[in-house]
Amino acid sequence: MASIESYRLLVFLGIFAVMGLLELWLPARNAPVNKRYRWTGNWLIMVSGALVARVLLPFGLVGVSMWAEANQIGLLHVIELPSWIGIVLCILALDLAIYWQHRLFHQVPLLWRIHHMHHADSHVDTTTGLRFHPIEIALSLVYKGILILLFGAPAVAVVLFEMLLNGFALFNHANIRLAPRWESMVSKVWITQHLHRIHHSQVMAESNANFGFSISIWDRIFGSFKSTASLPDERINLGQQDTPHTQENSHVIKLLTMPFRR
Ligand SMILES: [Zn+2]
Ligand SMILES: [Zn+2]
Repeated sequence: MASIESYRLLVFLGIFAVMGLLELWLPARNAPVNKRYRWTGNWLIMVSGALVARVLLPFGLVGVSMWAEANQIGLLHVIELPSWIGIVLCILALDLAIYWQHRLFHQVPLLWRIHHMHHADSHVDTTTGLRFHPIEIALSLVYKGILILLFGAPAVAVVLFEMLLNGFALFNHANIRLAPRWESMVSKVWITQHLHRIHHSQVMAESNANFGFSISIWDRIFGSFKSTASLPDERINLGQQDTPHTQENSHVIKLLTMPFRR
């Protein structure tokens, strides 16, 4: 398991480095707050979430999957399917589940209180993809754990799904813009940076759209897809009106206590 973890970390850091370099080279927008403050806050929030996850589930979601396998728990241990079909179905089902989790975090006031911290970032760049409150990480971990037990998801599907979810979060939060030709092509299937910036708009009708993290198909099926905002991409008002774009609002203690102060 240790080697899987180090491989995951390597892929994660690799994608982060590529996105970080692209943002430096061709930034889509300028940040209102110095990167130093935002990046420190967002990285520390990610570390806090990782620590909470480690305490809550020391063997991780892969451990849950291995336990389900050892005890023959879950749908895939009842229904006989070729293993690759089982893997693909599990990844798709988990991705759909995360789409609905994200929608619920916007619709249920108590959950929005927690998810609001992600949206309160004054700018959207690849580190925004790390900025989820540890309570959101914990709730999501329990939710995914239950689904893995229910599906009897194989460990390889769990590892691939986690890598894809983290990788896409870094990708679609990146402060870059695809060329218009690429944007229209890529967004047919995937959630692009522009589509996710619409989700980070201060306009409610826009932030209640594009809930997907990887494929844009769930948004298209469930009527939440929005390809344009009321303002052009470079002028969308990002962040939250109740959270001023200041250095203090990037401080990790401010971020951790945000759901309790609103
Ligand atoms: Zn959201
Ligand atoms: Zn986001």
